[in-house]
Amino acid sequence: MEPTHLNPATFPTLSPPRAWAEIDRSALRHNLAVARSVWPQMAMMAVVKAGAYGHGLEEVARVFAEEKVAFLGVANVGEARRISDAGLQARIYLLGATWSEERQEIVERGWTPCLSSLDEARDFSHRAEQLGKILDVHLAVDTGMGRGGFVIDQLPAALTELLQLPGLRIEGIGSHLPSADEDEEFTRRQFQQFAAIIESCGGAEPFSWRHLANSAGLIGYEPKCCNLARPGLMLYGINPLPDSSLGLRPAMSLKSRVTLIRTLPAGHGVSYGRSFVTTKPTRVATIGIGYGDGYPRHVSGNAPRVFLRGRFFPILGRVTMDQMMIDVTDAPEVIEGDEVELFGRHLSVMEVAQKADTIPWHILTGITARVTRLYHDGLD
Ligand SMILES: *Cc1c(COP(=O)(O)O)cnc(C)c1O
Repeated sequence: MEPTHLNPATFPTLSPPRAWAEIDRSALRHNLAVARSVWPQMAMMAVVKAGAYGHGLEEVARVFAEEKVAFLGVANVGEARRISDAGLQARIYLLGATWSEERQEIVERGWTPCLSSLDEARDFSHRAEQLGKILDVHLAVDTGMGRGGFVIDQLPAALTELLQLPGLRIEGIGSHLPSADEDEEFTRRQFQQFAAIIESCGGAEPFSWRHLANSAGLIGYEPKCCNLARPGLMLYGINPLPDSSLGLRPAMSLKSRVTLIRTLPAGHGVSYGRSFVTTKPTRVATIGIGYGDGYPRHVSGNAPRVFLRGRFFPILGRVTMDQMMIDVTDAPEVIEGDEVELFGRHLSVMEVAQKADTIPWHILTGITARVTRLYHDGLD
């Protein structure tokens, strides 16, 4: 007989999650189709770094692999390994620089690195030669991001040597936009400069892939010199250029439930620091989510709100680690157990990010492991 303290009926170990994220695979597919429709000649590298922007690396990578994107873009070897181990049939592109001790695996498993230095290139070439392979690599060029890639004035000399390395085939050239959602003039010049660099390296011909645009670059500019785009944010349903309407659908809805409802008298503080004090009897609902789940504490004081029973309700006082409070005085229909949306289909993560004085990328990637991810294929 099982010891009674292990009997799940006596001590249920699976309590329903306080906070969860519903992830809509049909929205991911829809958003990819939107990205593809912007410039129909353009192939896609779906950027799935940082656990697919918090949506779940393997699950999301599987969707985009099924949709036959040209590449899945990851931040590092750890992410590349997880996608490969999941058995997904898609080329994997490493967006960041690599360390020497990672390169053997990269060559063996045929992932595609982008090169920023001749040292890396020689190391890759040497390892590939030893394995009797030729590794496809992309040339990264720094046209203004300042994070990686060959600096432009070093490029012609570097290219001469790169082309002689027997273990490598330079199949692509890429660069990155630091301010496509902020500085149109600079970004336009970057596109021109990238086109000029391609010309100076022998034109489009030698490069099977030419890529510069992230989501904002794809939506807001005409990337004529390119045939591959690297969208991330827009695939998750958020438009970094909110003025253009594309019909993107948020793939993630962050949710929780009302755990408790009480009526506090006038003059009662709510939450840490007592930054909010009731001025009249107030019906307060406590919700089971906080900054420990990745909901940003910094929204506190900027009129943040949540969505519940078809309406918006203000958050009162500071967001705490596991809970927050909202004012439901005007909504007697709200009861304990009610589902609450923190952002998603009805409330944009852009709004939450702006109120937290940050960006939607930061909010999405900050949703913590405690938040259960639930996948579905469309609600309607
Ligand atoms: C993250 C990243 C992207 C995707 O950017 P979004 O703005 O999310 O579309 C594209 N390219 C590179 C090099 C990146 O690091």
